[in-house]
Amino acid sequence: MEQYDAIVVGGGLAGLSSGVQLTSKGKRVLLLEAESVVGGRTSSYDFDGMKVESGFHRYIGYYSHLPLLLRKVGVKPSDILTWEDKIHVRMDDEKPLVLGLAPVYGMIKTIKGFIGNQSYLTAKDKLSLIPFFMKGIMDFLTKPKQLDSFNIKEYAFKHGVTRDAFHQLIVPLSSGIYFLPPDRYSAYVFFGLFAPGIPKFYKMRVGAFLGGMTEVMCDPMAEWIGKNGGKIMVNSTVESLIYEDSQIKGVRLSNGESFYSNHTILATTLHSSKQLLEAHFCNEKWYKPMARLPLMPAVCLQIELSKPAFPVDITTFAPFTCMASFAEQSRTTFQQSNGRLSIILTPPEKFLGMEPKETLELVLKDAKKIGLDLEDKIIDYRQINHVYDFHSLEPGHQQLRPTQNTPVNGLILAGDYTKQPYFSNMEGAAYSGIKAARLVK
Ligand SMILES: Cc1cc2nc3c(=O)[nH]c(=O)nc-3n(C[C@H](O)[C@H](O)[C@H](O)COP(=O)(O)OP(=O)(O)OC[C@H]3O[C@@H](n4cnc5c(N)ncnc54)[C@H](O)[C@@H]3O)c2cc1C
Repeated sequence: MEQYDAIVVGGGLAGLSSGVQLTSKGKRVLLLEAESVVGGRTSSYDFDGMKVESGFHRYIGYYSHLPLLLRKVGVKPSDILTWEDKIHVRMDDEKPLVLGLAPVYGMIKTIKGFIGNQSYLTAKDKLSLIPFFMKGIMDFLTKPKQLDSFNIKEYAFKHGVTRDAFHQLIVPLSSGIYFLPPDRYSAYVFFGLFAPGIPKFYKMRVGAFLGGMTEVMCDPMAEWIGKNGGKIMVNSTVESLIYEDSQIKGVRLSNGESFYSNHTILATTLHSSKQLLEAHFCNEKWYKPMARLPLMPAVCLQIELSKPAFPVDITTFAPFTCMASFAEQSRTTFQQSNGRLSIILTPPEKFLGMEPKETLELVLKDAKKIGLDLEDKIIDYRQINHVYDFHSLEPGHQQLRPTQNTPVNGLILAGDYTKQPYFSNMEGAAYSGIKAARLVK
């Protein structure tokens, strides 16, 4: 029987990051992924004849762990990304509000965004944001638990943000980034996304992928693991953990095959981890908070078009519509397409049970509100539901996130839901995988 130093369950960014770290230390790793491609929530794949991705992603310039891993496997981030130094906010069919977000790379646009846009936000509106952001960052650093008891709507009004600044800036930022309306969005999570950017403000800008995320980012990580002595198995669903003598000794697949190791890194989504852990640990004190950590969905609509929806591929928010955030992607991720719009919908729960045709109709109606007439350009479309993929970012839930280290011999956790400073994003997933790998002796 083949012995491994570690079994990694899940081939998303967390699992791949663990795999890269461990193989680089000479450990023998077996990585098991349930789907036919690696990447998890950062995958790209064929969905009934249409090339899609898990949902459009932006890479934030301050990420540091993910780029280190990418360089380790021979991928230069600048080769797989194109950088944006501004975003658009569309509220009607007029010109968009342009917000610069790169104080160094796009200094003029950032300053213009702040002092310009007078027809959307007055000087009073803009000034009301300064004490709100300052207090929020202070509370994030000094009173995290208290900050996590507020939603961002309560917190904004408590700290004097004007109605217009709230609706035209805070709403797009909250529903655009984590697809949640502001009355369900933890203030702690909101500021937590900006906090790591403060010491690295000079790195701020957002990167759009130049190709499918599986092809340009995740496959190279998997291939590197393979070339360095690790083994990757796709289409391999772990059905149960082998737990004997108070120790996790390995895993059993749904086809009955078993694999053994002294270390198992469970790098699945929170939902899958709970399913695998419940059988053995439902009464254990360490597991109970994690068991209570709720899940949150995300829903995306991807539309193949005969022409681009916009003259540039750029991150866009559309408050007052169901289109939380979206981008034209025919010059970036889907360069083989004549036009491709990728939209993340809010609130996600509303769309989960809908037929894709029904979702499309609602999107087309809302798109018209922002001057976007898509009807005669549609070639095909797919709805991608992430029913169980995120841990809840609503107030009060951050303290329920587990650490990578568990009190169970042989069991380590990884994944964006585990404790790390970046929440549910690519950097958080990558860092959780690195932290998990450090626990393998
Ligand atoms: C629509 C959308 C938009 C996003 N936008 C951004 C963005 O702009 N910027 C950003 O940084 N992040 C973004 N994210 C978040 C980011 O994608 C995630 O935080 C990150 O990919 C999570 O990685 P992970 O490895 O923790 O989990 P996952 O990627 O979910 O990986 C878990 C893996 O485990 C596998 N698995 C589950 N159960 C089993 C089992 N029993 N056996 C074997 N394998 C199993 C799954 O198939 C999956 O591949 C977005 C996510 C979505 C869905």
